[in-house]
Amino acid sequence: MHELSLCNSIHTIVDRAAGGRPVATVHLQIGRFRQVVPDTLSYCWSMVSADSSLAGSQLAIEHIAVRLHCSACGAETSPAGDLVLVCGTCGSGDVSMLTGEEFMITSLDLKET
Ligand SMILES: [Zn+2]
Repeated sequence: MHELSLCNSIHTIVDRAAGGRPVATVHLQIGRFRQVVPDTLSYCWSMVSADSSLAGSQLAIEHIAVRLHCSACGAETSPAGDLVLVCGTCGSGDVSMLTGEEFMITSLDLKET
């Protein structure tokens, strides 16, 4: 499962960053192109974090829209569908993705002690 391996990666990074301090919320930026299902990600997170110092923490997910740059006409557009990567202006498939592939941990909220 895609989400489970992502959660294992998040856990490794957050565990190191938190250094044993209690974490309330993990803030993430995830590009739409990654096709992550938020409910599935949250569920996997509760499993991955259950037996660790991060048990009880929540994920807060900010989705980043897909933006494409067209090499044919120079337009910058958002695709009509997440997986239809063609220029919205001229229909060319010669596009590069500006945003939409993000997978970043942006910040941690620590629990009040
Ligand atoms: Zn174009």
